[in-house]
Amino acid sequence: MNKIPSPAAPLMRSKVSTFVDDFMAQVEQRNPDEPEFLQAVREVVSSLVVVLQKHPEYRKANILDRMVEPERVIQFRVPWMNDADEVQVNRGLRVEFSSAIGPYKGGLRFHPSVNLSILKFLGFEQVFKNSLTTLPIGGGKGGADFDPKGKSDNEVMRFCQSFMSELYRHIGPNTDVPAGDIGVGGREIGYLFGQYKRLTNEFTGAITGKAFKWGGSHIRPEATGYGMVYFAAAMLETQGQSLEGKTCLVSGAGNVAQYAVEKISELGGKVVTLSDTSGLIHDPDGISTEKLQWVMSLKNKRRGRIEEYVEAFPTAHFTGADPTLQSNPLWAIAADCAFPCATQNELNAKDAEHLVANGVKVVCEGANMPTTPEAVDHLLDAKILYGPGKAANAGGVAVSALEMAQNSMRLTWSREEVDQRLQEIMRSIHDTCAEAAETYGTPGNYVNGANIAGFCKVADAMIDQGLV
Ligand code: NDP
Repeated sequence: MNKIPSPAAPLMRSKVSTFVDDFMAQVEQRNPDEPEFLQAVREVVSSLVVVLQKHPEYRKANILDRMVEPERVIQFRVPWMNDADEVQVNRGLRVEFSSAIGPYKGGLRFHPSVNLSILKFLGFEQVFKNSLTTLPIGGGKGGADFDPKGKSDNEVMRFCQSFMSELYRHIGPNTDVPAGDIGVGGREIGYLFGQYKRLTNEFTGAITGKAFKWGGSHIRPEATGYGMVYFAAAMLETQGQSLEGKTCLVSGAGNVAQYAVEKISELGGKVVTLSDTSGLIHDPDGISTEKLQWVMSLKNKRRGRIEEYVEAFPTAHFTGADPTLQSNPLWAIAADCAFPCATQNELNAKDAEHLVANGVKVVCEGANMPTTPEAVDHLLDAKILYGPGKAANAGGVAVSALEMAQNSMRLTWSREEVDQRLQEIMRSIHDTCAEAAETYGTPGNYVNGANIAGFCKVADAMIDQGLV
């Protein structure tokens, strides 16, 4: 392990960065060509130097070195037949990162960009996020480089069945409990669960995000978006403000974005944007309940492109995606609040500059790691309320854990009860992050707060359980 700056010495920025750089050089050597994973680790380690200084027991147990190594990584071949009777092959992965405080828990992502680096970054983040939820769940993530877009329902079913034919032997209600993520919604969860049940001959809560009629929980589809908005409201409350009357930017148009729009509108905010891989729509009149219903039908049933929105609602404008641009025009629209809900690294330093120049008050992450490190620094320097995804989007996994609890009890809680629990959990995550940030000398810095609070619980469990 690298030398931690002495606790007696004042914590100089240069000493912190030397420790972080040395530690990262080691991690980089062991994990070359994994930029997203290294980005996620660097952010966490930068927050933890001050904790390691105060806690020699963490240093002695070499907790940090152990935490950056997944407990297990499973990679497998997923052969399947397309509708033209051609054999297709994809790569399946499951990263079982940490079981220190409960069974591995985290989503499955089906997207052509999926690789080991992305799943290790997501699995690593998940460990801290799940720790913050107050519930007994470890961290994991999985998926495949399969693109459900443009595939028929039968093709998606055949792929899911082949994927589960290998994954089923590694998961279970007390071992590893996957859920959805990008490209894995209700349809995919249904096919995956059906095959799991067939192979194991058991109807257990081994997957969450199930439809309500057969083992799912109320509020699970809504949980990530709703939870993020509850978190943003809690941040605003610290400054005596609320979402009432605020103009809001939301990126993405999938599960998280849709329910973020619903809850923001319910709390009196006005959402004026949505996006997908084709581009963004700007609707200055706001995305009303009726317009949101239209978007849900477009994305969840017809699986169409967001640009169709402007045909249905001509007051809105569409701007096509342009990968040659240095910044995303969505974040250059003047607003009070910004909610990145699409994917990793979708908000860069230039975007952050635009947001700050336009007087944004809150940036709260529905997606995982959507803000680049330079952009985060810019937002923190400008004293913007910034809610990192591992805290702000933890509502989804929290309600997944509530789904596991209901499955174990073979009971169903009402919509109101689950929503009440979600609100309490998000409040608790917010307060825990704020307290940890304050205790360790960086009040208002939710990045440090989330990393520190998430880390300490897992680290203590690892020490209690010995060298395993
Ligand atoms: P969905 O697949 O439902 O939606 C993703 C949306 O983002 C789609 O509209 C998609 O566009 C868009 N998108 C994806 N990649 C890009 C890109 N490179 N550029 C522009 N737009 C893009 O996923 P979710 O809503 O479930 O997930 C969104 C984010 O939230 C992810 O980071 C995920 O890890 C995170 N998250 C999700 C949770 C959940 O419960 N679902 C829980 C916690 C975090 P298109 O329609 O064109 O594909």
